[in-house]
Order: sequence, then structure tokens, then C-alpha cells
Amino acid sequence: MLYVDGNWVEEGQLAVHPEDRGYNFGDGIYEVVRIYKGKMYQWEGHLTRLYRSAREIMLDLPWRPEELSEIALQLIEKNNLTDQDDASLYLQISRGTAPRVHDIPSGIKPVIMAFVRKKARPLEDMKKGWSAMLVDDIRWQRCDIKTLNLLGAVMVKQYAKNAGAQESILHRNGTITECSSSNLFAVKNGALYTHPADYMVLHGITRQSVIDLAKENGIAVHEEAFDITFLKQADELFLTSTTAEIMSLISVDGHPIGDGQVGPVVKKLQALFEQHINESVLV
Ligand code: PMP
Repeated sequence: MLYVDGNWVEEGQLAVHPEDRGYNFGDGIYEVVRIYKGKMYQWEGHLTRLYRSAREIMLDLPWRPEELSEIALQLIEKNNLTDQDDASLYLQISRGTAPRVHDIPSGIKPVIMAFVRKKARPLEDMKKGWSAMLVDDIRWQRCDIKTLNLLGAVMVKQYAKNAGAQESILHRNGTITECSSSNLFAVKNGALYTHPADYMVLHGITRQSVIDLAKENGIAVHEEAFDITFLKQADELFLTSTTAEIMSLISVDGHPIGDGQVGPVVKKLQALFEQHINESVLV
């Protein structure tokens, strides 16, 4: 059961209008929300980011936050997710449908679409870590907006996959930004380093949870950009995202990071995160 433009529709019934601007231009925004044990994690944070993305692309959302919350809760209910289910919720808002011109047509009505999918947590991968490859950050200059236009992200991820790595680490002229669909952290002498939340990276919900957890537990966090040399000499590297959670990156371009295994700081943060999600979804 999906929610499309005000209606509940069965899978397979969906029709995208040929002149939907999300479809034609990637003109729209989205969120992916984690569902742990049938409950949404950090929904408020996702809502705040969604409204911010909308403002930044000059899109007036006609829905109040409570209406979007209601749609999300109904999706969980109608798809019979229980307290045994881990899942993810995808919600996208296209600017709407209008004859194809680049400027924003006046009076256009946004189109919302949302669905849930059962999705297991990547617990085995989190124990082993992933390999990464450095890739030129070919995306645009507003990576803080969670836009539907993801071709840059698709391409950099595929470059890494084609080269046999599991994830790409992106850099702009040698300055590390983030990964194809996650934020990146380096660990050096027990402290965390990550790119500041400016225009060059997405302001990840998991990134912020990790920063908060680290600070609460006496781990220093530096929101400072760093370069490729610093990256390669890090004691540990990890990425954060809604679906990958806290994932160690054990090698870059085939060279091991630290001793090439999931390190102690990542293990500690994973344990803190585990406790934190249990506490947040139990309430
Ligand atoms: N950076 C990029 C480019 C992303 O697409 C994402 C989300 N998949 C993230 C970071 C992580 O954000 P979040 O923790 O909110 O999932």
C-alpha cells in the first residue's frame, strides 16, 4: 500500500504523470526514515530537514507537519508493520505537474508519494566494515538539499562499485566532503573529525546523532574539513547514514586504514548507538 497524491493505492497501480517535474527534472525533495521495531527513528529531525529542503528549492509545502506525520503513521499501520519489524520509509515530494519549462510554473501543486519497505539492519557488515575508494566529488554546490536529483550520487557510487570497492569517499580538490549517500568521519588520536554541515554535505540525521552521542560520552568532535593525506593517516574511518548506521571503512583505494579492521572507537560508537536507538524506540 502506497500513499500517492492524497490516495492510498496498491503496489503496481501507480502512474507517474509524464510531465511530473520530479520525473522530468529531479525537481523535488525526499527523506528516508528508519523504522526500528515498527517505530520511526528521528522523525522530527527528518521533518525539519524536509521543510528546510523545500524552502531552499522555493517549494511551498501545502501540508502541515502533523499531516505528514499522520501519513507516515498510517503507512506503518496499513502495511502491518509490527514491533518485530525493521523497515524504511521513503517520502518524496515532487514540485508537481505542468507543461515542461525550466522556470517554476505558478500555481503548481506539489505531489507527495510515500511507501515503506521491510529492511533488515546491516549488522553483519557493521562487524566487518566496507572498502572505500576516493572519487572526485562531481556533484553540485548545494549538497545540503535532499533533492531527488541524485545522478551525481549514482555515478560516484557506481565508479566505486566498478572498481571493486563498496563505497566512494568524495573529495573536492583534495578536501574530503562525504560519501555517495552518507557522511564521513575520521578518527585521529581518539577524536572525531567530519566536514562542517555547510553547502557541500548533506546534514545527516545520523551524523548529528553520532556527534551528540560522542560529545555526551567524552569523545571530542571537530567539525572541520580535512584532506586526503589526513584521511589516509586516520586511525579509523567510518560513514553514517539512516540505512548503513555506523559503518567502518577499513580500506581506501586498497590501502588499509589503521590495522585494516573495525577499530575501537567505531565499536564504541556502534554500541552507544545501539543503546540510543533502543531507548528512542521504546518510548
Ligand atoms: N550524505 C548523503 C549524500 C546522503 O544521501 C545521506 C542520506 N542517505 C547522508 C549523507 C546521510 O544522511 P542521514 O543520516 O540523514 O541518512
